[in-house]
Amino acid sequence: MSRTLVIIKPDATERNLIGHVVSRLEKARFKILGMRMMKLSKEQAQEFYAVHKERPFYNDLVTFMTSGNVVPMMLEKENAVTELRDLIGATNPAEAKCGTIRYEIALDVEKNSVHASDSDKNAAKEISFFFD
Ligand code: ADP
Ligand code: MG
Repeated sequence: MSRTLVIIKPDATERNLIGHVVSRLEKARFKILGMRMMKLSKEQAQEFYAVHKERPFYNDLVTFMTSGNVVPMMLEKENAVTELRDLIGATNPAEAKCGTIRYEIALDVEKNSVHASDSDKNAAKEISFFFD
C-alpha cells in the first residue's frame, strides 16, 4: 500500500462537486485516510506550488487556488500515485482521456478541478503539508 494526496480545487468545490469527486475516488478503491476543507492563504498556495514559481501561470494559479475552498485528502491504495494520476487525467482537460475526472468536470488547463501528487517523494511532502 502507498499514499498520495489529492486536492479538490476551488472550481470544483464552487460547483458542488465535492461529493462527486469523493465518490469517484471511493469507487476506484482509494481509501480516504484524511480529509479537510479549508481556504489556502496566499503564502500557503505560493509554498505549495513553489516548484512552478518561474512559470508564466504561477501568479494566476496562486490567485485561483486561494479563490475558494479546497479539500485536501490523504489517500491509500496500491501504487497510489500512479493510480490517482491515471484517474484524474491530463493537466489540460482537452487532452484528458474519456472517463477521467478532469475529462468529466475540469473547466480549462488552470481550473482543472483536482490536484494529485506526481511522485512518492512529493506525495509524502504534500501529505505533511496538510496532515500531521
Ligand atoms: P498537474 O496538476 O497535472 O500536475 P502541473 O503540475 O504541470 O499539472 O501544473 C500545476 C497546476 O498549474 C495545474 O494543475 C493547473 O492548475 C496549472 N497550470 C498548469 N499549466 C498551466 C497553463 N499552461 N496555464 C494555466 N495554468 C496551468
Ligand atoms: Mg503537478
